[in-house]
Amino acid sequence: MSAALRILVTGGAGFVGSHLCDRLIRDGHEVVALDDLSTGSHVNVAHLLPHRRFRLVEHDVTRPYDVEVDRIYNLASPASPPHYQRDPVRTTLVNVVGTYHALKLAEGRGARVFQASTSEVYGDPEVHPQPESYRGSVNPVGIRSCYDEGKRCAESLVMDFHRRHGVEVRLARIFNTYGPRMALDDGRVVSNFIVQALRGEDLTVYGAGAQTRSFCYVDDLVEGIVRLMEHPTEAGPVNLGNPEEFTVLELAEEVIHLTASRSRIAFRPLPQDDPRQRQPVIDHAKRVLGFEPKVPLRVGLRRTIEGFRSVLGLGRHAPALAGSESDTPLPRAANG
Ligand code: NAD
Ligand code: UDP
Repeated sequence: MSAALRILVTGGAGFVGSHLCDRLIRDGHEVVALDDLSTGSHVNVAHLLPHRRFRLVEHDVTRPYDVEVDRIYNLASPASPPHYQRDPVRTTLVNVVGTYHALKLAEGRGARVFQASTSEVYGDPEVHPQPESYRGSVNPVGIRSCYDEGKRCAESLVMDFHRRHGVEVRLARIFNTYGPRMALDDGRVVSNFIVQALRGEDLTVYGAGAQTRSFCYVDDLVEGIVRLMEHPTEAGPVNLGNPEEFTVLELAEEVIHLTASRSRIAFRPLPQDDPRQRQPVIDHAKRVLGFEPKVPLRVGLRRTIEGFRSVLGLGRHAPALAGSESDTPLPRAANG
């Protein structure tokens, strides 16, 4: 383990942020989670609150802040389409102004910054799968642009602070990640399908469900994030995700199978600008960080379903999960 560090995690009470805080506390660091609790919750870090090396500070990153730190993980931003489209102007500001404040803090304190960027910077990609060298195909005036362009501008700020102000930066483009502690009302596909299946409601597949995503279990992502932050020189951008690609329809069928649910599939209109395909090229992360996702979708889904069952209070009365962790792996979507 590296020496104990003073670490700030913005968005630390969110889904990914809270898992990251767990990991950093386990590694022996001092952690401050800074969060306005807009899409995250103190419940996600309630188990850490008694810990003397952990602190939760309620604060909005669009306002400046100061704290003595060695590392800043900048994760504060709404992340699901329904959440980031609820107040799109604010989403842009959180990503641009919030990232600016993280970088100013890093400059002032001589800290290193990790920036949580996203596969959304590739938009609806014309290159498949997506390597870091691909510059993307984002609609700058569409309903997703508050998030996509907010994150792209944040990337630009990160690299300019690095080049012009000598700030040590670590830039990761995170692909679809799932796991326990996603908010019940998050609206992303994995949490929606699991909650719907456990409640016996129809699973809402948008469009024909032929669009693809590549789903990474949160523990694998956190490993990649920490490896990148502690890399001595790599600034990025580095894709982090699991390249196993599935259609949304395959995901719906798998969730119904694993929950042994009687739910059916209901097709709904495809939202505007919904990317048709997404799969990371992770060669760079493999080579530089030794990053290798370990949790197959079926295993990660089982763990996530367990998490949601307990949040929904379905513990004992829900049907047993079908199959076992050694089931045959899911077929993968054909590329392209
Ligand atoms: P999340 O919504 O669970 O977490 C985001 C956290 O940021 C929440 O706790 C929220 O309250 C906090 N936050 C939002 N605005 C804030 C503000 N103004 N000030 C302080 N805190 C604020 O989402 P997540 O999935 O955990 O995403 C975390 C980060 O990872 C985000 O930056 C997101 O863009 C990025 N990311 C996530 C994924 C994914 O699949 N989970 C993919 C790509 C990128
Ligand atoms: N999706 C769906 N049903 C849902 C939620 C999402 O079919 O209830 C689809 C959505 O249209 C998209 C994919 O699942 O094609 C992933 O959506 P999500 O919001 O999880 O993430 P993103 O689009 O940002 O990758």
